[in-house]
Amino acid sequence: MATSRSAKKPVILAVDDEPTVLSAVTRDLRGEYGQRYRVLRADSGESALDLVRELKLRNVPVALFLVDQRMPLMSGVAFLERAIEIFPDAKLVLLTAYADTEAAISAINEVALNHYLMKPWEPPEEQLYPVLTDLLDDWQASFAPPFEGIRVIGHQLSAHSHQVKDFLSRNLIPYQWLDVGIDEEASHLLELSDSDDSQLPLVLFPDGPSLVQPTNVQLAGRIGLRMHPGLPYYGLIIVGAGPAGLAAAVYGASEGLSTLLVEGEAPGGQAGTSSRIENYLGFPSGLSGGDLSRRAVAQASRFGAEVLTPQEATDIRAQDPYRFVTLTDGSEISCHALLIATGVSYRTLKVPSVERLTGAGVYYGAAITEALACQGKNIFTVGGGNAAGQAALYLSRYARSVTMLLRSGSLAKSMSNYLVSQIEAHEKIFVRPRSIVAEVKGDANLEEITIADTTTSDTRTAPAFALFIFIGASPHTDWAADLVRRDPQGFILTGRSLMRSGRRPNGWHLDRDPFFLETSVPGIFAAGDVRHRSVKRVASAVGEGSMAVQFVHQYLSRVPE
Ligand SMILES: Cc1cc2nc3c(=O)[nH]c(=O)nc-3n(C[C@H](O)[C@H](O)[C@H](O)COP(=O)(O)OP(=O)(O)OC[C@H]3O[C@@H](n4cnc5c(N)ncnc54)[C@H](O)[C@@H]3O)c2cc1C
Repeated sequence: MATSRSAKKPVILAVDDEPTVLSAVTRDLRGEYGQRYRVLRADSGESALDLVRELKLRNVPVALFLVDQRMPLMSGVAFLERAIEIFPDAKLVLLTAYADTEAAISAINEVALNHYLMKPWEPPEEQLYPVLTDLLDDWQASFAPPFEGIRVIGHQLSAHSHQVKDFLSRNLIPYQWLDVGIDEEASHLLELSDSDDSQLPLVLFPDGPSLVQPTNVQLAGRIGLRMHPGLPYYGLIIVGAGPAGLAAAVYGASEGLSTLLVEGEAPGGQAGTSSRIENYLGFPSGLSGGDLSRRAVAQASRFGAEVLTPQEATDIRAQDPYRFVTLTDGSEISCHALLIATGVSYRTLKVPSVERLTGAGVYYGAAITEALACQGKNIFTVGGGNAAGQAALYLSRYARSVTMLLRSGSLAKSMSNYLVSQIEAHEKIFVRPRSIVAEVKGDANLEEITIADTTTSDTRTAPAFALFIFIGASPHTDWAADLVRRDPQGFILTGRSLMRSGRRPNGWHLDRDPFFLETSVPGIFAAGDVRHRSVKRVASAVGEGSMAVQFVHQYLSRVPE
């Protein structure tokens, strides 16, 4: 089925096995209704049913079936019986000859036929259009336009479904979620697509074939994300599109460097998962992380930066004067200057069954993606930092109760004041200090958690629909560990932190000290959360990313071409 704007017009489907009749009726229908409806044709009941299933999977509504009664393998009435199971609101009209009158009359009862027309229908202005126009007006009056985007069908408490939803939302792709456990339409669509429960999640696209249990790379390919660089060489390659990497891309590209930004998951980084950033300069009423990353990607792209996503850097090497980055697919790209802005990701909770239930009730971050599913449920968060505070406030809009489990004695120890006061005043949020998760339980999904009191070691078990974990972070630097120096926690050393008793790092061959954001390898820089002793904030990551470009210019001014 061709993809075009007309693909979303409601459909009128004409079905007839006689080619001349089918051409004539299609011509008449297109002439009269082509502006508002898409007129499709099929030459048998079987091929028409295939088409009807395809339309349903792409969420294209059918307004009217105009079907010949006398077809060899499947009669018109037999076709309509099956078609109305798929489009129960469509209007049904049968094309008949004199001899079919009886069948047509009984079809009025059998399939709630709206009308039958005698062939030939000449002139159509008298014999065809008045009837059809009336039926179409009737159909329009109760027609609710369908959702036009991507639909994801799956189980709420499935790790793979969560991965698909998270990937789409972090890449700011709108989608409709249909839970097979709740939504009848979901089961219906599953059946139509010849899939079963074991093949979920299923992703339906309005403009092409569906994807069964897709990987992020398959999804990215379908939604048109760019995964391969346009050039073999760039002036500046930035790895990581969190606030630091995005800021560097804006400054690099706007200052004339050919700039490539490589992102392993979705632009925005940790900030992209934040429901509301309230302390970023210039946004007095806050802004969501999604909003910030959307604006930043648009800004960087406007200046000509290329953004690859999802594409991970897996290795780096240096061969003067070039720096090389290896991507997940094994390809290598070169540059003169490289910025590592790979940030950090949540530390995992090491208690029994957490790994097995991750994505099925246990989540790292992901408050925005899963919030709607928490409607009316009792849920828990773990951690006492700003990320946990923001998540608790956001989730409390949906959940019946949010219990925050803190290892420490109070929120004030590690959370910003403005969040502490909102949480303390909130009637649905309960804070349990000196509490840790000792175990999570559930067969297919999370059902309950065991909470231990850190002072008394007493434990108690509570039913839990979801557990959102925010317990600090570790840096994404293993991929670069063979080349640049790191501290014992894996954060990248830069500038003065590389100097030992006034001596430059081993292997440093330039007659100057490393710049403030430069690593142990000249021309390779680090910015944002990934950097040793950096301030872990959006504004500081943005500041470092922008500043790094100044050092890149200084470095490049002395590198031989
Ligand atoms: C939920 C939440 C709420 C927060 N709220 C606030 C707030 O209100 N105010 C505030 O100031 N700070 C907040 N922070 C902290 C802030 O988001 C971070 O300090 C900031 O995002 C750090 O930016 P970054 O660019 O250094 O790294 P990150 O944001 O961590 O981005 C790094 C990016 O690099 C990518 N990456 C990692 N490895 C690779 C690889 N090998 N190849 C390619 N890409 C890779 C990651 O996918 C990621 O997108 C919050 C953090 C969280 C988690």
